[in-house]
Amino acid sequence: MHFASDNSGPVHAEVLAALTEANQGYQMAYGADTLMNEVRDQIRGIFEAPGAAVYLVATGTAANSLALATLSQPWETVFCSPVAHIHEDECNAPEFYTGAKLTLVPGGDKMTPEALRQSIEGEETRGVHGPQRGPVSITQVTERGTVYSLAELQALCGVAKEYGLPVHMDGARFANALAALNCSPAEMTWKAGVDAVSFGGTKNGLLGVEAVVFFDETKAWEFELRRKRGAHLFSKHRYLSAQMAAYLRDDLWLRSARQANANCARLADGLRVAGAAFLHEPQANIVFASFPRHQHKRLHEAGAVYHLWGDSLDGANEDEMLACRLVCDWSIGTDQIDRFLTLL
Ligand SMILES: *Cc1c(COP(=O)(O)O)cnc(C)c1O
Repeated sequence: MHFASDNSGPVHAEVLAALTEANQGYQMAYGADTLMNEVRDQIRGIFEAPGAAVYLVATGTAANSLALATLSQPWETVFCSPVAHIHEDECNAPEFYTGAKLTLVPGGDKMTPEALRQSIEGEETRGVHGPQRGPVSITQVTERGTVYSLAELQALCGVAKEYGLPVHMDGARFANALAALNCSPAEMTWKAGVDAVSFGGTKNGLLGVEAVVFFDETKAWEFELRRKRGAHLFSKHRYLSAQMAAYLRDDLWLRSARQANANCARLADGLRVAGAAFLHEPQANIVFASFPRHQHKRLHEAGAVYHLWGDSLDGANEDEMLACRLVCDWSIGTDQIDRFLTLL
């Protein structure tokens, strides 16, 4: 009953097998391996973007930071939600790589077009003295387990385009969002106005690979230089390519995400029946729920693993509602979810 995060889960057997298979003989280094050609073709096909520039890095923080650095200048500001991973969970790596600052768009997990417009309007009002407007970064699935609809994405990108600003998508859980919306990758990105995407793999069953995709190929060379300068160009790159190739083959990435989302829906339904309150509408593979302390205690004693959200298990009031975050990864079984719900 492990719901701490989707990166505490195991790696797909297919991915490990692909690594063993790739571990034969020689391959050119630094991304010139033949598997990378397969990955590039696959991603271009999946995104219906034949000219897209495709790169691999090992962490989501590197993907976001290097993508944003390529889309911005050091005197600019990146617009994002106050709960954005790039703001809360990357130890200022985005600021380090971009040299820019982040401007938090007031609101919650999802930015609204009105709030974004207001934040953008608030910048570039002080001439040379203030930050200049820079990229907008959108997280899909959001850090609170919600998913922007296509209309919401189009509206946000529309505001960015009005001001001539590029849009980055943090897709650490890209596959889960796609499975939730049941749309095409192109619709969720460039057709809506997204310029670059961090396409996650680690949270969905890889050892550690994320792709960065630019729909504007003129960014390609700059990204390559930044990746190398930022110490994220892997020399034995074929082992990154092999993971991503296995992920994309036979829709493993989508099958895994659909399974995680379906199991999360099962968990959310059970929580609802048990009377839990939701802090956010669970739309992908993450639930934020609150229920009484005595239930948390029973689950913890039985071995359930998950994070309480700003609350503590210690406390005298057994009926106090404590918030928690429950994440379903691709490998969680319905048996574990049902056991959790029975205990609850
Ligand atoms: C996990 C996650 C990342 C990537 O984090 P790394 O630990 O750097 O791989 C990026 N964005 C979001 C929203 C995430 O949840």
